[in-house]
Amino acid sequence: MSSNEKIPFLDLVTPHVELESELLAICRQVFRSAGFIGGPLVEEFEREFAKYCDTPHCVGLASGTDAVRFALMAAGVQQGDTVITVPHTFIATTEAISQAGAHIAFIDIDERTYNMDPAKLKHYLERECHVDSASGKLLNNKTKSPVTAVVPVHLYGQCADMDAILELAHRYKLIVVEDACQAHGAEYFSKKENRWRKAGSMGHVGAFSFYPGKNLGACGEAGAVTTHDEELARKMRMIRDHGQAKKYYHDVEGYNGRLDSLQAGFLTVKLRHLADWTRARQEAAQRYHDLFGNADGVITPLTPEGSRPVYHLYVVRVQDRAGLQKHLADAKIDTGIHYPVPLHQQKAYAHLGYKTGDFPVTEKIAPEIVSLPMFPQLRREQQARVVDKVLEFVGLPALSRSN
Ligand SMILES: *Cc1c(COP(=O)(O)O)cnc(C)c1O
Repeated sequence: MSSNEKIPFLDLVTPHVELESELLAICRQVFRSAGFIGGPLVEEFEREFAKYCDTPHCVGLASGTDAVRFALMAAGVQQGDTVITVPHTFIATTEAISQAGAHIAFIDIDERTYNMDPAKLKHYLERECHVDSASGKLLNNKTKSPVTAVVPVHLYGQCADMDAILELAHRYKLIVVEDACQAHGAEYFSKKENRWRKAGSMGHVGAFSFYPGKNLGACGEAGAVTTHDEELARKMRMIRDHGQAKKYYHDVEGYNGRLDSLQAGFLTVKLRHLADWTRARQEAAQRYHDLFGNADGVITPLTPEGSRPVYHLYVVRVQDRAGLQKHLADAKIDTGIHYPVPLHQQKAYAHLGYKTGDFPVTEKIAPEIVSLPMFPQLRREQQARVVDKVLEFVGLPALSRSN
């Protein structure tokens, strides 16, 4: 490889070139049946993805945003309720909460994992909420809004600390919707149940996105929910299809949030490769980890015991993030930032009344995080060059020189 070759952040071309004939066969099948919405290809994908997630039910949807939103609605979140999540996530998580009619309550993250800190969730539930003696409902002390659900986000492909979150949710009767949009196939060892559990199988509902850049990506927009609860699955099927189980008989007002059959067919083809792609991401993450060693000035991702992340992103932290990004860009290495502005500091959420200082961990890491190239086809020599350039920037001997 020429030492000057561009290293992309993500390669979406190679997998589609490799699978082109299988994907084109899906197009032909769909064109010839003209079954564009619903039908056997959607049902097949739902069966296969449910199996992959260790849940009996999967409902294919038009996006991950719909997945979180429909999950909350189906599970019973009402207009005016409060739903808890983190400020360090993609805005789709909170859009889904607002669009389900609920208020957003943020809980800060754990600095080691970047996921919801269960101790802070506990503090919020104990100190900022109370159980109303008349209704038995958990209310926010200030707003008096019923606090009814929590959305832990398995960010970057690593599961949140679900034992602790599920225990609190159980104690306070909260609905749990896992935002697993970045965590297809991620695993968490439940000490309580003494077994490994899959992302999307631990809460009442798991929400997935198949946006093209996700670990399992469609060739367009797509999403899904997974659940153990047949009744919830039935409700989400209704909500995705204008509130009807039978055509033109509408039990409720719903949405147009269906998965189309082309995308379902593409996803079934790609799902067969997901285990291999995940393994390749995990190997690439291990190589980064080994190459960085314990370099001073670079904080690499931490994997707690009992966590098997799927590395949707490989995120490191440095003091001078802008400087590092420029240094890498000059070396033709693409990077990303996930996410530069915490949600409570976004203009869109000014009306929530949060202020700087409210979520110190999120605010501390947001200016330091940078996502390095991560995709299944990433090669060892490309990673060595990335690490070389990062170490060079933080003033450590580069690999090529120290080796
Ligand atoms: C991608 C993503 C979503 C939304 O998925 P879409 O399919 O783009 O609607 C939601 N939450 C998180 C954490 C995501 O990364």
